[in-house]
Amino acid sequence: MSAEKPTILVTGGAGYIGSHAVLALEAAGYPVIILDSLEYGHKELVEQSLKAKLIEGKTTDRALLDHIFQTHNIGAVMHFAAYIAVGESVQEPAKYYYNNVVGTLTLLEAMLAADIKQFVFSSTCAIYGPPKTVPIPEDHPKNPISPYASSKLMVEEMLKDFTKSYGLNAVVFRYFNAAGADPQGRLGEDHQPETHLIPLVLQAALGRRENIAMFGTDYDTPDGTCIRDYIHVADLASAHVLGVEYLNKGGETAFINLGNGNGFSVREVIETARQVTGEAISAVERDRRPGDPPRLIGSSEQARRILGWQPQYADLESIIAHAWQWHLHRHGRAS
Ligand code: UDP
Repeated sequence: MSAEKPTILVTGGAGYIGSHAVLALEAAGYPVIILDSLEYGHKELVEQSLKAKLIEGKTTDRALLDHIFQTHNIGAVMHFAAYIAVGESVQEPAKYYYNNVVGTLTLLEAMLAADIKQFVFSSTCAIYGPPKTVPIPEDHPKNPISPYASSKLMVEEMLKDFTKSYGLNAVVFRYFNAAGADPQGRLGEDHQPETHLIPLVLQAALGRRENIAMFGTDYDTPDGTCIRDYIHVADLASAHVLGVEYLNKGGETAFINLGNGNGFSVREVIETARQVTGEAISAVERDRRPGDPPRLIGSSEQARRILGWQPQYADLESIIAHAWQWHLHRHGRAS
């Protein structure tokens, strides 16, 4: 008989990456409780596709957190809940520092009060800023250029100190470009408003937008468009389950990139989407989007070495095909 798996509290579990992580945790036999404010999360997807109990609330609500930790036997916390819009964070930094930093601090204090010391945190490759070397290793200098990215780096610093002083153990994942959808079609990406390349390209394929704008075609890259490291959300999710297992076995605080270690240009994404969908997809050339580095590719060596992680869907076709299956089912073609 294998030992019973600890219950995992997943904040932001009704969001895009969080919900896929819950799916993976449940498939691995972990009981899950979701805490989500439902500002951006999707209640109906949690109810349809996940077994987890959903608690509606925010990580800034200390009384609620204390209640959750007193009434459930939580072994570890996976923390996805955060505001993620880079542009908005420039307009409203206070909102980002409050939710992402104060919210995380409140959560960590409640965890420590309840003697819970295993934490998996969603960070971002945006903390590196414009890369000096590609693929980017974890010890690359940190130079966040938005309040969103700064808010994530501040939490990383907090986690280093909490490791030393309070014996907290954390796995910090720095995501590159999360994309795709559950291969079985149960969950997918549905941001409002949508700003990410692959869902926008698929909206164009569905006839829900006239075309896709390519932000910058004069970069110093082979085809002039930006290169990103797209990682399948199911591969992100499997890394999170490995992260929990690593902590459960006594693993120490670690900072780990999650990318595939290879990159695709905006033009390559659009061309692959044309092949996958069979749709023409009109693309138009536009000015550069401020703040976009030409190439972002993460070294995934640490994830493989520390966690034994192996991506299952590293090819762009699978990432786009699964996203397409989800978009067709969820949104359908424009009538
Ligand atoms: N992009 C684009 N058109 C769009 C949205 C994004 O050309 O409508 C480009 C963007 O400039 C970047 C890449 O696609 O080079 C990925 O952007 P996304 O917003 O998906 O992720 P980011 O890398 O900004 O986190």
